[in-house]
Amino acid sequence: MTGSTYASPACSETGDPLLLTPGPLTTSRTVKTAMVHDWGSRDANFIEINRSVLARLAAIANGGNDWVSVPMQGSGTFAVEAMLTTFVPPGGEVLVLINGAYGKRAKRILEIAGRKTVVHETAEDTPPDLAQIEKVLAATPSITHVFAVHCETTAGILNPIAQIGAIAARYGKGYLLDSMSAFGALPVDVQTMHIDAVAASSNKCIEGVPGLGFVICRREALSRAKGNATTLVLDLHEQWTNLEKTSQYRFTPPTHVIVAFHQALEEFDAEGGVAGRGARYRNNCRILVEGMRALGFKPLLSEALQAPIIVTFHMPEDPRFEFQRFYDSLKARGYVIYPGKLTVADSFRIGCIGRLGEREMRAALNAIAEVLDEMGMNRAVARTA
Ligand SMILES: *Cc1c(COP(=O)(O)O)cnc(C)c1O
Repeated sequence: MTGSTYASPACSETGDPLLLTPGPLTTSRTVKTAMVHDWGSRDANFIEINRSVLARLAAIANGGNDWVSVPMQGSGTFAVEAMLTTFVPPGGEVLVLINGAYGKRAKRILEIAGRKTVVHETAEDTPPDLAQIEKVLAATPSITHVFAVHCETTAGILNPIAQIGAIAARYGKGYLLDSMSAFGALPVDVQTMHIDAVAASSNKCIEGVPGLGFVICRREALSRAKGNATTLVLDLHEQWTNLEKTSQYRFTPPTHVIVAFHQALEEFDAEGGVAGRGARYRNNCRILVEGMRALGFKPLLSEALQAPIIVTFHMPEDPRFEFQRFYDSLKARGYVIYPGKLTVADSFRIGCIGRLGEREMRAALNAIAEVLDEMGMNRAVARTA
């Protein structure tokens, strides 16, 4: 119980509360203890670890020899901004598919960088309309790229990334993907999905610690992107060529984060890669949804649209339900949930990713039932209309 006041029986291996959030996430003790050393960035062991991390990331996305992983220091958004501003030339134009905050953020990044955008927006609980995408591409030949979010973490919705890729390919457009919250848990196949670049980060489904983003890039598209970048730091082409030439990042790499990420990838492989990790998360998600339904909560999304990453629940209408109290009482029991971010409904979210399994999910449900009792609510009366 080092450094923590939480005495929950279901807390993590280090006594910290469990993070039922979209990230940062609960990590294993072994991932955390991988960081108790110091490495020089020119240390041969560190260079080898970094090389191995990058090779594994491209392999997870089925990137053969024609794809490369380029790391970007910072949180996931740094990688998304690097991807958009490196691949889209200053004269380019992007069809941005929006059904939540991360699609909106991509649009904002492009606007700030002076790239043109065309938006296809649907509600947070609605996937993009494929026929409409096709219509826009047919009507707007100046579009150079299509951007999509894999799991839009705002609602937890799964977007049809393979079908979008097929349309983009048919119209000869570049395809840029934010797979931040899904990468490692849901399959991404850069070859069959016609992806030019896909961005993700260390601290989501690979279960590393925050601090490193990465973009898996089609080598040929990345070569053509030379000179596109409109910032010094977020230039993936420069980062890539520098790494190839010198094995060095251009600026200080987050050494501890990368070594922990390497350990997280070992654990990811041991669990059976995307299939194994995805299976655990799907099981977590099923337990969560079933348990919450039994307590009277209603998920926002239908099963077909729900990605096994984070689940949005409607806020109960019962006046005895106070979200802040619910949140605080759960935190005191060792479970951190997440507020909602929707415009379509008053809601809150519970994540099912990170170093959590069946036992942790069931314990979280027990804690939720206790808190409902404490608030004087009849279980199964948390029901919304
Ligand atoms: C987490 C996340 C990001 C990146 O967010 P950061 O806070 O910058 O790490 C981007 N896109 C999606 C879909 C995400 O879930």
